[in-house]
Amino acid sequence: MILEKYSMGVGDRFGRQGVAQLGAFVKAAQGGINVVPVWNKSYREHSTIGTSPPEVRAAADNAVNKLGWQGAYFVDADHVGRKNVELFIESSDFFTLDVADFTGRRADDCDIRKFTEKHAGRVGELKLPGMDRALLITDETIREAACKYLLAVKEAACIYRMIEDVKGAGNFVTEVSMDETDLPQTPLELFFILAAVADCGIPAQTIAPKFSGRFNKGVDYVGDVANFAREFSDDVAVIAYAVEEFGLPGNLKLSVHSGSDKFSIYPAIKKVLEDYDAGLHLKTAGTTWLEELAGLAEADGEGLDAAKNIYSEALGHFEELCAPYSTVIDISPERLPASAEVSSWTAEEFAAALSHDPSCDLFNPDFRQLMHVAYKIAAGMGTRYISLLDKFQEIISANVEENIFERHIRRIFPASR
Ligand SMILES: [Zn+2]
Repeated sequence: MILEKYSMGVGDRFGRQGVAQLGAFVKAAQGGINVVPVWNKSYREHSTIGTSPPEVRAAADNAVNKLGWQGAYFVDADHVGRKNVELFIESSDFFTLDVADFTGRRADDCDIRKFTEKHAGRVGELKLPGMDRALLITDETIREAACKYLLAVKEAACIYRMIEDVKGAGNFVTEVSMDETDLPQTPLELFFILAAVADCGIPAQTIAPKFSGRFNKGVDYVGDVANFAREFSDDVAVIAYAVEEFGLPGNLKLSVHSGSDKFSIYPAIKKVLEDYDAGLHLKTAGTTWLEELAGLAEADGEGLDAAKNIYSEALGHFEELCAPYSTVIDISPERLPASAEVSSWTAEEFAAALSHDPSCDLFNPDFRQLMHVAYKIAAGMGTRYISLLDKFQEIISANVEENIFERHIRRIFPASR
C-alpha cells in the first residue's frame, strides 16, 4: 500500500463532516491539485468524545460512497503506541507510531555501540543536492543521535511488528512520529533517525519530526520563518538522500503535524515541494470542529447560544482543558474575553473572533485556541450538540469545505504538472 505524493490528514471529532471535508478534496482535484484524504483520530480524542476507531472507518467509507470519490483514501490510527494500537488495527490502514516519549531515553550501550560502529564510515562532511552548506558528521554526532533516538526507533519497530503480525507487510502505511517532544530534531539528527528506521526494518512512508518554532493548535506558526524554511528544505534534502542511501521506501516524505493554519510558512513549504518535487503529508489539528462552531455562531439563534455556552463552560474549565495540550497551545488568560462580554456578541462578532483571518481586527487567537481544546464541553452536551450540527449542516458544511480548500490545500500543495 503506497501513500500518494500529497496527502492531508483531517480530523472529524463528532463524525458529521466527512462529506464536507471530502468535498474540499474533490474541488482540489477538479482544479488539478491531487491530494489524498486521510481521516485521523487519536486515542485521546476517542476517549474524550466516547467514539471508537471503527466509527472513523464507517464515516470515511460513507463520505467516499456519497461523493463517488474514485481516488485513494486512508484511515489513520493517529499517535498510537503499544498500549492502544490493538484497538485500531482492524479499521485503520495508516498508522502514526508515536514514540515521542521514548526520545531522549538511552538505548542500551551495546545497541548504541553497534549503531555508531555501523555508521562510523559516514564521519566527514555531508553535502546534499540543494543545500548551500555541508552538514558535519563526527563520531560524537552519531553517538549522540543514537543516545537520543535509537530507543525511540526501536519502540516504533516494536509497534510496527504488532501491526504487521495482524495485517501483513505491505497492507498499511507507516508513519513514525516524534513531534510531541520538547526539543526539535535537526536535519542531521533526522538523517540518523532514518538510518535507525532502516536498520530496524520499518518501511516508513512518512516521518513527523518536531520542527523548530511553535506549532500551536489552530493558529499561525510562531517562530523565525526564514529559519523554518531552511530547516524544512534541509529535511527534504536529507530524506531524498536517506531513501537512496538506506533503501527506505521511495515515497518517504515529511509529515507536518498541527499543520493547519500555519499560513506564514505555507509559501516556503510550497516552494520547497516544487523545487525538490517532494511529497508532503499535512496533518491538520482538529480544526474542522472550529468550523462547526463558527457555523453554529453564524447560524445565530440557538446555534450562537450554544457556541457562547461552550465558551463560558470552557473558561470555567480552563486548566483541565488546556493541561493535556500544554506543548501545542499558548493561551494568555488575560487576553480571553469575559463570559459576559461574549454573551453580548452578535453572530458576526463571535464568528470573527473565532475564524482564522489574521487581517481581521476582531480575530482573537487566544479565544480560538481555547475553543480548540473545548471540544470536551461539546462532547458533554451529547445529542444536543449533534442535533445542532444536523440542524445547521448546510452553513457548517460550507465553512468546513472552504477552510480545507481555500485556506489550506490551495496555499500549500502544488498543482500537478
Ligand atoms: Zn502529532
